[in-house]
Amino acid sequence: MTNQNETGWNFDNSYARLPEIFFTNQNLNPVRSPNLIILNSPLAASLGLTVEKLQSEDGIAVLAGNRIPEGGSPLAQAYAGHQFGHFTMLGDGRALLLGEQITPQGERFDLQLKGSGRTRYSRGGDGRAALGPMLREYIISEAMHALGIPTTRSLAVVETGEAIARETYLPGAILTRVAFSHIRVGTFQYAAKWGTVEELRTLADYTIKRHYLDIDADGNRYLSLLQEVIKRQAALVAKWQLVGFIHGVMNTDNMAISGETIDYGPCAFMDTYDPETVFSSIDVQGRYAYGNQPYIAGWNLARFAETLLPLLHDDQEKAVKIAQDAISGYMEKYQKNWLAGMRAKLGIFNEEEEDATLVEDLLNMMQKYRADYTNTFRALTIDKIEVTSLNGNLEFMQWHEKWQARLGRQENSNESSQKLMRNSNPAVIPRNHRVEEALDAAVNEGDLSVMEKLLNVLSKPFAHSSEQEEYCTLPAPSNLPYRTFCGT
Ligand code: AMP
Ligand code: MG
Repeated sequence: MTNQNETGWNFDNSYARLPEIFFTNQNLNPVRSPNLIILNSPLAASLGLTVEKLQSEDGIAVLAGNRIPEGGSPLAQAYAGHQFGHFTMLGDGRALLLGEQITPQGERFDLQLKGSGRTRYSRGGDGRAALGPMLREYIISEAMHALGIPTTRSLAVVETGEAIARETYLPGAILTRVAFSHIRVGTFQYAAKWGTVEELRTLADYTIKRHYLDIDADGNRYLSLLQEVIKRQAALVAKWQLVGFIHGVMNTDNMAISGETIDYGPCAFMDTYDPETVFSSIDVQGRYAYGNQPYIAGWNLARFAETLLPLLHDDQEKAVKIAQDAISGYMEKYQKNWLAGMRAKLGIFNEEEEDATLVEDLLNMMQKYRADYTNTFRALTIDKIEVTSLNGNLEFMQWHEKWQARLGRQENSNESSQKLMRNSNPAVIPRNHRVEEALDAAVNEGDLSVMEKLLNVLSKPFAHSSEQEEYCTLPAPSNLPYRTFCGT
């Protein structure tokens, strides 16, 4: 047996030291015959973990939830949340926090197993996850990371050797998720609803210590927390919009207080530009459509602000006023981030009043003529407008002239504009048909090579290399819209 310390486990379990209402210690639910499908070696190394040890029988046993790593303290977290607008009690129904790994650089990351079996919070669910969706989370979260978007990451996927019952029987799997933390808006909602004010304060203080160390000890530190969370979410959602990422299920339990993207369920990237794009099969109202995401983030932040009321001021009315003032600043922050990002996508360094119109005109055209979002910006970036479906369109050619004139009104060289565009416009995104193709090979044929090739291409989204070109092609036209699913 390997000495587990050789693996590099270095846990500290600060969450387990919170008041007990926040979690339930959880025994392992061992699985029959774990088989390591994929391991993220660079991520393992950055966490201070030895790749060969993780690949050993003992290492795989940890990643399968069959063995507690040295120093780990498995627990399921309690939280609540608004799901499609309706408040409900939730919690880790199929996940287990192993502990917080302290890296050689002294950073702290949650290591969580997803699909690890039933917990106190499982309600009617089996606590398990299927291989396809876990590999899908692996691909998309790693693609998001490479795009420079704050996100939870994926360390490994292990097949459990057990079939799980969905519409059919599917191979079960466990994903090891790495996160700055799993503290959600829903964690605060849970504390505000079922905890004492002191427990709520403890959670807020804990969160500040973990994610917002710059907040002063003096002044209204809980207002500062609210403002900082607003700032990070405004930046995060702007980044999603800029690459065409649709989260799909922006319930308040799926919004992380750290400002990282969390919970890859029915998410997907948009091909054709259309603000009404929805992929999630259950989002029939389009609540979480691409164009709604900035507003929904604002709505979720208002729910977060409500939880903080008892900490913001002793006088309830004053507390409400403080919270409202903070929340009312969100949209402007979001817009600023978004416009700054759009300027970069168009190679613009300085600011002009008319820039927003220039951007909107382009987006309106994309929508009207059903142009591909990523490829339109890519075509402008590599200066090959012939590769967009808008090429030759009179409206577009006029817009192009206006844009060129706009670029002429800044001191920066064409070269630096092009460099800015290359770094702001991905050549490749995890397009749905490519992701499906990779999952099909992995799950149905046991062939990981398609997924590995895709992951490799997605790891350098701004390379604009010739080997990436085949990944820029669009899916064959289909009468059926692409659909994604939750909780699978
Ligand atoms: P999600 O849609 O992944 O955000 O999950 C919403 C809630 O349902 C969370 O509390 C999950 O832990 C729980 N959940 C999802 N799938 C399962 C499952 N198979 N078994 C138990 N709980 C689940
Ligand atoms: Mg969730």
